[in-house]
Amino acid sequence: MHKYIIIGPQGSGKGTQAQVLAKTFDFVHISIGDIFRWNMTHHTKLAARVTRIMNEGRLVPDEIVEEVVRQRLEQHDWNFGFVLDGFPRTRVQAEYLFENWNLDKAIYLDIPEDIVFRRVMSRVAEGKGGGFTKRLDDNPEALKIRLREFHDKTRPLLALFDQKGMLVTVDGNQTVEGVFESIVDKLGLPAAVKAG
Ligand code: AMP
Repeated sequence: MHKYIIIGPQGSGKGTQAQVLAKTFDFVHISIGDIFRWNMTHHTKLAARVTRIMNEGRLVPDEIVEEVVRQRLEQHDWNFGFVLDGFPRTRVQAEYLFENWNLDKAIYLDIPEDIVFRRVMSRVAEGKGGGFTKRLDDNPEALKIRLREFHDKTRPLLALFDQKGMLVTVDGNQTVEGVFESIVDKLGLPAAVKAG
């Protein structure tokens, strides 16, 4: 059983890496942002509680996020393991994770903030979204807020993971393949299995 989380600022490529990692090793990729976006597309009750917050680039309150994560993980469809993408993002969320789920490693995609800002802005200029549709939170104001939320609330968690011996830092400023190879190598997963 492999239980991983992946942390990185907006535009660090964490969604892509989580997806490839999951596909390659048969883990389940759980993206909290995707779950929220699914709810928004389907106009659920949950969407009504989170849409404005998300579109502004702010973090959704911990109790809502915790409930979503709990419900998702309790499905237990992750026979070989999971890659949690976008959780935890605050101290309270990290405590919940430690108390309830035995985490193996926290993968941190390390990338300078000015580079992620440029990456995401070029995505905005090209009109591309992070998923299949354009994201309403891909605009300069929301992006600035998201990066600040990352800086203030999520980045401090790295020290916590480090203290627990769980932190795996990977240089996120490489090609997608380069980043993936570094992750596989640092997690000690079989390198012979190639992404695709
Ligand atoms: P993401 O797709 O991971 O960039 O997440 C998109 C948005 O969903 C974030 O900007 C937040 O508004 C919300 N969100 C996702 N995960 C969390 C989390 N763990 N805590 C709070 N808000 C979150």
